[in-house]
Amino acid sequence: MKETESKITLLDVLIIGGGPIGMTCGIECEKVQLSYLMVERGCLVNSLYRYPLNMTFFSTSEKLEIGGVPFISHNHKPTRSEALEYYRRVAMKWKLKINLYEEVSEVKQEDSFYIIHTSRQTYHASSIIIATGFYDIPNLMHIPGEDLPKVHHYYREAHPYFGQKIAVIGASNSGVDAALETFRKGAEVTMIVKDAVISESVKYWVKPDVENRIKEQEIHCIFNSIVVSIRPKEIDVQAPGGLITIENDFVLAMTGYLPDFSFLTSLGITIGEDEMRTPTYDETTMETNQPNIYLAGVICGGLKTNKWFIENSRVHAEIIIGAICAKQK
Ligand code: FAD
Repeated sequence: MKETESKITLLDVLIIGGGPIGMTCGIECEKVQLSYLMVERGCLVNSLYRYPLNMTFFSTSEKLEIGGVPFISHNHKPTRSEALEYYRRVAMKWKLKINLYEEVSEVKQEDSFYIIHTSRQTYHASSIIIATGFYDIPNLMHIPGEDLPKVHHYYREAHPYFGQKIAVIGASNSGVDAALETFRKGAEVTMIVKDAVISESVKYWVKPDVENRIKEQEIHCIFNSIVVSIRPKEIDVQAPGGLITIENDFVLAMTGYLPDFSFLTSLGITIGEDEMRTPTYDETTMETNQPNIYLAGVICGGLKTNKWFIENSRVHAEIIIGAICAKQK
């Protein structure tokens, strides 16, 4: 921690986001004794906490390890609750400096440092790492009725849907998991899929299961179709044969999530004009077009939210802290 000429306490690094990759950045700061603080708007690893309760990771536990702390799970692919336990232990072992339930709302540049306003206070830091993920903003369909209380963009568990007619929109991992689990807990499930097939990206051990449930007509599936309107007891679907209306109690819109582009642009970070809207950063340092502001984790992929995950973005932390230390020399 340094003091500026006007006696402001200056952190070396402020990390926005307390997900696995923000935590890894904190660990790298600890290793080289940079002063830092992590600020997280929710609980520790807030995105993982909000995953479906019975979710199993597609990664094996050692691929989710950070900070050299071994991750032992009952099966080789850990569950959500095992991952929460693991990241709590990592935070305790490294005594990570993290303020939870505090949201970064605004960042301003002042001479050679940044002023960071949060929901609680103001900080000053020489460098900022943005590790804000992509799980906070659902990819909305912008159709009538999407704001009805029966429409959910996050799936938690199957019990509320027992005996109900539910529509699952989307056929990627989240949609397929929600369709299979609710079907097995007694819901009458219809999947509405804009493509002609179940997504190739669905976990290889799950894909045959859903395809067989569809073939056996246990799960009803309407391919090449989109939902165009939602009402309290019905939905309208634009299907290849024309518009159809289906009775419906709940909609699980598993249509994906978006990074917070407006937060990035408010910091002056430019967004690429490519289809994936990739934010601008130098891959050798992870520094954005804004000096001393770095990107880490899944946020780096823009709309390509399956490009980066924990396993292949853990390394961002080492690259960034290496770059910050090199500048300080
Ligand atoms: P996140 O974990 O999303 O962390 C970002 C954090 O930033 C959040 O906690 C958020 O609350 C916080 N934040 C955002 N804005 C602000 C702000 N303004 N102020 C303060 N805090 C803020 N990846 C894998 O590697 N393996 C898997 O098996 C796997 N399974 C997945 C299953 C599901 C259902 C989903 C949705 C994703 C899965 N992923 C998996 C991807 C996974 O989400 C990411 O790899 C991982 O969470 C990325 O970590 P991160 O730290 O970059 O982002």
